[in-house]
Amino acid sequence: MSARILVVDDVLPNVKLLEAKLSREYFDVLSAMNGADALEMIHREQPDIVLLDVMMPEMDGFEVCSRIKADPDTRHIPVVMVTALSDTADRVRGLEAGADDFLTKPVNDIALFARVKSLIRLKMMMDELRLREATSNNFGVVEPEQDQMSVDGAKVLVVEDRDIYARNIQQALGDQNEVILTPDPDEALEKARSGESDLVIVSLSLQQADGLRLCSGLRSMEESRQVPILILVDDTPDQMERLVKGLDLGVNDYLIRPIDQNELLARCHTQIRRKRYEDRLRDNYHMSLAMAVTDSLTGLYNRRYLESHLENLMERAAHGDKPVGLVIMDIDHFKAVNDTHGHASGDKVLTEFATRVQRAIRGIDLGARYGGEEFVVVMPEADLEASVKIAERLRQAVEKDEFDTADEAVRIPITVSIGVSSSRGAEDSPAEILRRADEALYQAKNAGRNRVEVHESDVLQQDEPRAQAQGA
Ligand code: GH3
Ligand code: MG
Ligand code: MG
Repeated sequence: MSARILVVDDVLPNVKLLEAKLSREYFDVLSAMNGADALEMIHREQPDIVLLDVMMPEMDGFEVCSRIKADPDTRHIPVVMVTALSDTADRVRGLEAGADDFLTKPVNDIALFARVKSLIRLKMMMDELRLREATSNNFGVVEPEQDQMSVDGAKVLVVEDRDIYARNIQQALGDQNEVILTPDPDEALEKARSGESDLVIVSLSLQQADGLRLCSGLRSMEESRQVPILILVDDTPDQMERLVKGLDLGVNDYLIRPIDQNELLARCHTQIRRKRYEDRLRDNYHMSLAMAVTDSLTGLYNRRYLESHLENLMERAAHGDKPVGLVIMDIDHFKAVNDTHGHASGDKVLTEFATRVQRAIRGIDLGARYGGEEFVVVMPEADLEASVKIAERLRQAVEKDEFDTADEAVRIPITVSIGVSSSRGAEDSPAEILRRADEALYQAKNAGRNRVEVHESDVLQQDEPRAQAQGA
């Protein structure tokens, strides 16, 4: 996950320290040493996230944050306040100023990366939504403004078996959210299966069970793969080790006891908002109020919308250097489905195909019906390797189970051939990336169908830096 991060602090060694930590993880780091410079830079550079010191002469962090959040051009940029050692009053003021999260000095690596990654994910969703709305506006579809996704009425599943802790959480969240409390991970897994939770909070110090096992269970179940997980840990070396394991498993964020209620609320809000943006992106009905942008048979976006959106995406990708991945899929021997089972069965297969595609991709990916039995998925921030993985997942999702036909008694196997490509910065174009993917698809067909192929020039492009490194 690459992103541009602005570090604001009036003390140079603090700036240097954060810069070093973040650069080591390949983040692109900008810095400013006072509020005025920071605001100017935020306007000019549009960073993905701002790490903001509270104590600064002239304009303090609260003031800077308020101004970022008051400006429609910058309010979507997440702000993390860097406060002195657990000063509760500062946190409250930070929240009032619109801060999205907090870090405590001295900044520890686990906290830094957990928060930064969570907020970047949130921002990716927001950016994608803004972009789609811009695309929809080109088609004359006006959608409601979505700058501040509401967090009200969220369903929060809390897995905690000690009463005092549980009551604390209930108190912090209970006003605005529907808190469902259970001490039992199995029951939690069952509830999560309903797919209705907006957030799951898991204690890693359960007396009767292993919270980490629950986290891994949640991530492996289709219905809960996307639900945000926040874990609660005690401040002991053993639990810190488990915390790191949890983050590796895909846990989104954590809090250390004793829990500050404001901090808990801020963390929960970030996760809930991200989840809601993602749901919204996934939800075709909301995203495409007009028939003009969707295909009526499958509900996916149509070709025109795809092309327009791809243009916007690639323009954005050309500025930062985050690639866009693209796959073209063509159902194998589809004509035979129509010929053997009838056109109605063909339609049914197309609809089911679209459903499987939609289920296999992330909320920020966009699936479209490109032609009769041809489909395209565009994937922001997916390099070639990631795109190939998704393509392979798509191929398997189609092959795995047979498809229904119009005749209830008959189910048929379907396979798909897939061509993959990935964008190459400023000189690339939508027409070019589509052409490369299409040629790769043609190769996949020639090589026997039911396979994933990458365009030859993309493979070379990818190997180049490696070959050079080896040669040096
Ligand atoms: P290949 O493996 O080479 O892709 O073979 P194919 O049979 O899938 O390819 P071909 O392009 O020859 O056939 C595509 C068929 O898809 C022909 C067309 O009638 C059918 N088709 C296109 N749109 C629809 C649709 O909306 N509904 C149905 N039922 N069939 C459609
Ligand atoms: Mg075809
Ligand atoms: Mg075909």
